[in-house]
Amino acid sequence: MTHSSVFHTVLEVPLVIAIPNSFKLGGRDWTVEIHDVINNEPDLYGDCDGFECIIRLKKSSMDVMQHTFYHEFVHAMCFTLGWEKFNEDEAKVDTLSGVLLQFLKSRRGKVQ
Ligand SMILES: [Zn+2]
Repeated sequence: MTHSSVFHTVLEVPLVIAIPNSFKLGGRDWTVEIHDVINNEPDLYGDCDGFECIIRLKKSSMDVMQHTFYHEFVHAMCFTLGWEKFNEDEAKVDTLSGVLLQFLKSRRGKVQ
């Protein structure tokens, strides 16, 4: 990578939002694991284990893993807040994760 391409990358708003290795919610530390297969279920793309504080993602394209991560992250927030009814509503969880990811991808600039 040349110096100019590094500079170019810094100026651009990254469209790919990094998936963290770990984060905190409330007073608990969460970790993110990448697996070839989750819970022996080949069709499962993600899993949120609120008791162990682990989000598991199936190894796939970054776009799919990103969407899946934020879906599972919303489950993790609901679990942390005790929002059981919301947590069981997959449509709401997926809609909220979609707008959250849209915000993260489209944000620009910094208020001074
Ligand atoms: Zn879900």
